Amino acid sequence: MIYLDNNATTRLAPEVLEAMLPYFREHFGNPGSAHGAGRMPEGALVHARAQAAGLFGCEPAEVVFNSGGTEGLNHAFRGVFEAFPARRHFVTTAVEHSAVLALAGWLKNHGAEVTFLEVDAEGRLDLDRLEASLRPDTALVSVMAANNETGVRFPLAEIASMVKARGILLHVDAVQAAGKVPLDASVLGVDLMNVSAHKFHGPKGAGALFIRRGLRLKPFLVGGHQERGRRGGTEDVPGIVGLGAAASLAGSRMADWDRVRELRDLLEASLLAAVPEMRVNGQGAPRLANTSLLSFRGIEGEALLMKLDAAGICVSTGSACTTGQKEPSHVLRAMRVPAEYGRGTVRISLGHETTRQDIDRVREVLPAAAASLRALGPLGR
Ligand code: PLP
Repeated sequence: MIYLDNNATTRLAPEVLEAMLPYFREHFGNPGSAHGAGRMPEGALVHARAQAAGLFGCEPAEVVFNSGGTEGLNHAFRGVFEAFPARRHFVTTAVEHSAVLALAGWLKNHGAEVTFLEVDAEGRLDLDRLEASLRPDTALVSVMAANNETGVRFPLAEIASMVKARGILLHVDAVQAAGKVPLDASVLGVDLMNVSAHKFHGPKGAGALFIRRGLRLKPFLVGGHQERGRRGGTEDVPGIVGLGAAASLAGSRMADWDRVRELRDLLEASLLAAVPEMRVNGQGAPRLANTSLLSFRGIEGEALLMKLDAAGICVSTGSACTTGQKEPSHVLRAMRVPAEYGRGTVRISLGHETTRQDIDRVREVLPAAAASLRALGPLGR
């Protein structure tokens, strides 16, 4: 099997599993216990918090462990909504993850106003529009560090300086960017940033939220004193250990993204040469090294996915959270990709495990698959 859906999830790294296993077996104690069985788990949390802080570029005390990206987003949005009742305007972009779109709906149902910033045909933000959207009652600006479908990166330093100059809080959804680019939360002056371990070879159901020191949000889960009172409940020690180990591993493998980028660029160049009426979405914008969102005119994306699957190649038609939708995703619509292209979209997301042989196989299989679907004519669409 050739796995090219690393933006949906990644394989748990063997060294991460090794780090986690003792916390299922011998070090099963509760980190909150005063006796000996709690000591190793408590120490493990301290260590993992330092590792997660290294990923965010922040202080360990600014890290709140949680269950993943979706929880971090809920904590950030709902926490800010509750903490600043005099500010009822939120700003985000039209291409955020579906969880952010759902949270925007939640905010609107609770009386807030949400501005969605448009992007251009390459998926880039217009910073003048961002500036014009900011108001005295704006509570939060939330942008993704990198898009899960296209890999397009937003200019966080420029966004942060603009938003912070107005005294407005800034949240960054770093779920796709984490482990692929340095994050530097403290340097950028970001207030909130969330990551999810399963996107960088850690376990599923483990995540972290950076909350800048001094920013007081209500606890997300009301309960015990865990996570300095910011999230109650006995900690998922193996998951947190896994997140920490995966964060360290990602930091040590940053240079490998240059290799991955070369493979991705080779794939795109050879497909563009071999397949007529195909486009690479967001190719003109700064992108993550691993992501390629391809649209084929007059082909059904789902049919192409099935053909590739039959050849043992795993890709997706977009975000795993929107699988099964026939119409182009909200991201492609925001980029004004024509529907006849948008419907024929597949996302190929490479990873540290991707080899030249994998990419050569896709270069061999994909053009023939696209041609055979096109030969079926409209019936095959
Ligand atoms: N934000 C982005 C940009 C994502 O890509 C995802 C997952 O695909 C999430 C948030 C949600 O993360 P999780 O699956 O950990 O809830």
